[in-house]
Amino acid sequence: GDQAELLRKKLEIHVKGDAVPAPILAFSSCGLPQKLLQNIETAGYGMPTPVQMQVIPAALDGKSLLVSADTGSGKTASFLIPIISHCANFRLSNFSNHKRPLAVVLTPTRELCIQVEDHAKLLGKGLPFKTALVVGGDPMARQLYRIQQGVELIIGTPGRLIDLLTKHDVELNDVKIFGLDEVDCMLERGFRDQVMQIFRALSQPQVLMYSATISQDIEKIASSMAKDVTVVSIGKPNR
Ligand code: ADP
Ligand code: MG
Repeated sequence: GDQAELLRKKLEIHVKGDAVPAPILAFSSCGLPQKLLQNIETAGYGMPTPVQMQVIPAALDGKSLLVSADTGSGKTASFLIPIISHCANFRLSNFSNHKRPLAVVLTPTRELCIQVEDHAKLLGKGLPFKTALVVGGDPMARQLYRIQQGVELIIGTPGRLIDLLTKHDVELNDVKIFGLDEVDCMLERGFRDQVMQIFRALSQPQVLMYSATISQDIEKIASSMAKDVTVVSIGKPNR
């Protein structure tokens, strides 16, 4: 309503899409698991950053998002918090010995994947939430074994994940959230076809896509992956 619009204006949160939930002012106001809230507090996050204020409630609502915000604005937690929340809730209500991955996050580089995993471990501590890194430089057999032991989130670079998927059977049918961090950078590195190939291995996931700038090309990619993509950009409009 009007409140939401005022808040967005004040925080320079621009949204394009239907029925976008209002931004939240506190992490505690959108029903996140208690343990996750504790971890957020332990991490030293008092208030959500503007991108988190808008992305977290929209992602929890199931929306597919195309997001743009400055470096250092807290984008990582904006996708990890909804992912961890989904994974924890799913595992706590669906008991199964065969644990298939529930989310996949792609980033352009091994280093970025490691950073995202560290962040995920911090926020997911004490919850039914395990991660597997699928990046070059480590033995693929070990990465595969880790996935087979049961993980909630796979974090990888497109090249290595394709490598693993084409050589081995990894069941991705339970993947509900597909995160793409720094997608513009992935395109620059020539990963476009690989990103699309990984997308096609999933069954209509919710897409959380991040890019420094939102070009028509990137909007097109996002809408080819999900219908009704909500665009969220923080700060000066990017176009
Ligand atoms: P980027 O938007 O560039 O991906 P990051 O997600 O890496 O930014 O976050 C930048 C820094 O801000 C990190 O050190 C992270 O721990 C910190 N951070 C994220 N969210 C918050 C918050 N709500 N309050 C305080 N610090 C935060
Ligand atoms: Mg980032």
